[in-house]
Parts: sequence; structure tokens; C-alpha cells
Amino acid sequence: MIDSHLFSHITIIGLGLIGSSLARAIKSKNMAGRISVYDNDEEVRAICRDLKIADIVHDSISEAVSGADLVILAVPIRAYSSVAKKISKHLSSDVIITDVGSVKKEVIVSLRAELPATINLVPGHPVAGTEHSGPEAGFSELFIDRWVILTPENNTNTNAINLVKKMWNKLGSNVEIMDASHHDRVLAITSHLPHLIAYTIVATAADMEGQLQAENKNTDVVTTADVVKYSAGGFRDFTRIAGSNPLMWRDVFLSNKDAVLEMLGRFNEDLTALQKAIRWSDGEQLEKWFTRTRDIRRGVIEAGQAGRFEYTESKKKDND
Ligand code: NAD
Repeated sequence: MIDSHLFSHITIIGLGLIGSSLARAIKSKNMAGRISVYDNDEEVRAICRDLKIADIVHDSISEAVSGADLVILAVPIRAYSSVAKKISKHLSSDVIITDVGSVKKEVIVSLRAELPATINLVPGHPVAGTEHSGPEAGFSELFIDRWVILTPENNTNTNAINLVKKMWNKLGSNVEIMDASHHDRVLAITSHLPHLIAYTIVATAADMEGQLQAENKNTDVVTTADVVKYSAGGFRDFTRIAGSNPLMWRDVFLSNKDAVLEMLGRFNEDLTALQKAIRWSDGEQLEKWFTRTRDIRRGVIEAGQAGRFEYTESKKKDND
């Protein structure tokens, strides 16, 4: 390993928003002697060559990982098994495998089933992202001041954990070590459920016009044009989240089923309580509720987690 580099050869598999941002960030910090990348989409590989985000854009996944001392998986969660199967026989014995997947328990099971038992596995999740996807959406500052959660198993080599932690720290992130199950429950309520609500509300609004017209009811129709025109009243933020990568989010919900269903149950109970307060004109209950949530929001701002790009119209608006 060259002294000034944290790793001599880093390979990134999957060059969408997260993978391409990592390649850019690692390059800008000069953290690897060599950066190799691979994506199974030929068009993505061509874009990455044009963008010059890595030293080598490989056409073969086995060549990409060969000789690497760190391999980062940045593919959709349901692709982990097939990727692990393809790279398993081509890895160096002392390689560290890490990833960026938004769910951790299932990732560990998928990777452990396919990788050599002795491999150093340090699963990770940068709680950072945008609603955009693909290599052109990436940017090197994405991880600055954001949390990265590492979920190593009990017997993981401490040196491997420390090296991955150091990499994220150098990219500007704060690192937390957490049990994989706990990670999946925390993210179910802080990230997965909000996305599900956004996906629901946007579809509900869009369906309204068509459904009411189809029923031919003599009722006041809220049109799609109304929804789009007046979306600044809160709806706009939901549409931004609901514009997130469909494939990635399909995988998140399929991979974190138990935790999401638990949080959804709790959410439904609270929604029903609010519904009752409105029906019973219980203003005191509503005011108490909204004051408490405003305090929570203030806490998020004070903790510096409200998003660096929050008050700009930049396409790099905060989301995870
Ligand atoms: P993306 O769709 O932008 O990129 C995924 C890339 O993986 C694509 O270029 C695709 O061609 C490639 N790919 C798919 N299957 C592959 C395979 N079998 N072999 C090689 N390449 C393959 O998605 P993204 O937003 O960068 O998400 C990637 C990972 O990061 C996911 O696991 C996701 O859970 C996690 N993550 C995403 C966000 C976010 O906000 N987008 C945040 C944190 C973590």
C-alpha cells in the first residue's frame, strides 16, 4: 500500500447515484492508489468513461475486483446475491467487502451465503442521497456531514472496521456502529415509512380525478391540474420523495418487510387517533400533537440533520 493512500486498490460495483458519488469523493480525496469500477449496464459504463470518475471502467466484473483490497457494493439490494456469486472466486484473500445498501440484515444474509466464510465483511449504509439516480446524478460532496451506519457482525476483524470507518470519516461523514436489526428498525421509521407515505399520497391525489369522473358522480372533482398548480402547500415535498428510484425502493420494502410492517401498524394507529380528533373537533388534542412534532423538527435542525441543501432549489436537495 502506498503511504498516502488508505487503500491501494478500491473497486466499486454499481455506478448510480451512490456508487458514482463514492468514486468521485474517493478520487477527490486521493484515497486509493487505483479506483476500478464496474456496472452491468453498458450505457452506464460509457457515461462513466466520459465522466472520468475512475481510473479504469471495467467490462468484466471479475477483472474489476481482482487485486482490490476494498470492494464497495453499490447495487440495488436484490442484486447482491448475483453480484456476490460472480465476484466470490476472484477476490483477494485479505480483501474487505463493504456496501451502501439501505437495508442491512438481508444484505448480510445474501452476502454470507455467497462469499468465502473468511472474508472481511463490513456492511454500511450512508444515510445520504437524493431522489435522483444514475451516474450523472452523483456528486462528491454527497456524504459530507451525513451519518454512515456500519453494521459489522460480532466476530468482524477490528482493523477492517476501522479502515472502512476511516474512509467514511475522510469523506466527511460521521460513523456510527450499530446492530443490523436495530438499523433496519430505525430506518424503517425514519426513511422507509416516509417514502411509503409519499408514494401513497401522490398516487391518491393523482387517482382522484380519474376515479370520480369514472363513477360519473355529481361531485366536486379535484383535477390533476389543481394538484400540480397548488402543490406548494406541502404536497411538493411529497412529490419530491415520491420521485425516488422505483427499483431501489421496491427492493427496500421487500428486504425490510417485518420492520416496515411494524412501523406501518403504529403509524395507522396514530393516524386513526388524529382522524378521531378532527371528527370530534378536539382542537386541544390537535394543537398538543402539532406542538410536540414542531419540537421534534427543531431538534432535527439543531442536530444538523435538516439537510445542507434544504433551502435551495438545487437538484441536490437533501433526502435519504
Ligand atoms: P442507482 O439506480 O442510481 O444505481 C444502481 C446502479 O447499479 C445502476 O447503475 C445499475 O445499472 C447498477 N446495477 C444493478 N444491478 C447490477 C448488477 N447486478 N451488477 C452491476 N451493477 C448493477 O441506485 P442508487 O441510488 O445509487 O442505489 C444503490 C444502492 O445504494 C442501493 O442498495 C440503495 O439501497 C443504496 N442507497 C441509496 C440511497 C439513495 O438515496 N439513492 C441512499 C443510501 C443508500
